[in-house]
Amino acid sequence: MSTNQEYLARSLNAVWHPCTQMKQHEQLPLVPIERGEGCWLHDFDGRRYLDAISSWWVNLFGHANPRINAAIADQMNRLEHVMLAGFTHRPVVELSERLAALTDNALGHCFYASDGASATEIALKMSHHFWRNGGRPEKDRFVCLTGSYHGETVGALGVTDVAIFRDAYRPLLHAAATVDTPDARKAGPGEKPEGVARRAAAALERHFSTHADRTAALIVEPLVQCASGMAMYDPEYLRLARGLCDRHGVHLIVDEIAVGCGRTGSFFAHEQAGIRPDFLCLSKGISGGYLPLSIVLTTDAIYRAFYDDKPTRGFLHSHSYTGNALACRAALATLDIFEQDDVLARNQARADLFARLCAPLAADRRLRHLRQRGMIVAFDAITDDPAFANRMFAACLEREVLLRPIGNTVYFMPPYILSDTECELLVTRTREALDAVLR
Ligand SMILES: *Cc1c(COP(=O)(O)O)cnc(C)c1O
Repeated sequence: MSTNQEYLARSLNAVWHPCTQMKQHEQLPLVPIERGEGCWLHDFDGRRYLDAISSWWVNLFGHANPRINAAIADQMNRLEHVMLAGFTHRPVVELSERLAALTDNALGHCFYASDGASATEIALKMSHHFWRNGGRPEKDRFVCLTGSYHGETVGALGVTDVAIFRDAYRPLLHAAATVDTPDARKAGPGEKPEGVARRAAAALERHFSTHADRTAALIVEPLVQCASGMAMYDPEYLRLARGLCDRHGVHLIVDEIAVGCGRTGSFFAHEQAGIRPDFLCLSKGISGGYLPLSIVLTTDAIYRAFYDDKPTRGFLHSHSYTGNALACRAALATLDIFEQDDVLARNQARADLFARLCAPLAADRRLRHLRQRGMIVAFDAITDDPAFANRMFAACLEREVLLRPIGNTVYFMPPYILSDTECELLVTRTREALDAVLR
């Protein structure tokens, strides 16, 4: 038995894998990984896979990145962790200052947690608690977009509109209202993405006109709704939503857990709309894909609404690993790389190369809706095969490429260090896999 097969068998025996109907592994391979280097993951039998989805959108600068490794190793020998209630430390202070500066200090305070879903929970709780502290306790409802995804915990699922993740738990949820997504694929004949954005904003306005009094916040994934299939939309929606939230006294929460950290071309996606949110959720890429870290940034005005002699007016939320020093240090190393390597400018060139290499896919009659926002490229296969995603995944693995389609949507969301050659290999192998799957 090969080492691969050994780990595969032992894993199926002892590990309950996430986001998986485990029985499907009777057909689909589980892939044991021994090590990672750059964009590549290597198994125990000498096969390699190009990690074209950044290991679920977390990795930015490759696996086993020497600079992030060195920063974590240095931190490990100074301070691995200390509780953040009553204590503070250098990495968490520096990271908070640098993140606030990246918002031009519009969002001057950072609250820490470990996973993305916890950041969602924190933003929702903070928003409601803000209104409560201000004598508006009836503002206890939230609005999200159709097709939204904000995480899997019970609070986060309440603002998530992906049936396959949510429906079994519906009785447990404090479900939010959903309003139309500005997904540009919903354009009518001759309609521009901006037009779809305006229509969706009109729907939000109708919702606010009757429900704003009870609504604490609108939560959105700015520019790209990743989990429901890389639905991309025009920044105009964010501008209009910001205006509507202001006019109706509702907070705007932007969930940049997937789209932050340069993924869409700007460091934060919301910058492309020229707006600032009241709450900004970050996770995934912020630690370079190394350690669980999430952050909610908010305004000093919201922070001050909790500042009081009464403990219960404070935000008494915590997680054991809140502000973990190793994770913060990994994040600082990540921000260093952004600065030292001029990452946003270099990504622009990489995104242009992607656009050129993928252009022929637009003419492929088996595909539609080729779309791109910075370092995310997606298209939809026209097929009614319910097994398309699994078959495409397997066909790509056979060709040394790790892609994980969402339904009929195939997407690239690679680490930012992808070379031109790797870019070409990715697109070529994907086309070969499509030819094999969509015969
Ligand atoms: C991944 C994701 C989350 C949840 O983050 P976890 O770390 O998986 O809990 C929330 N929102 C968005 C937009 C995400 O992509």
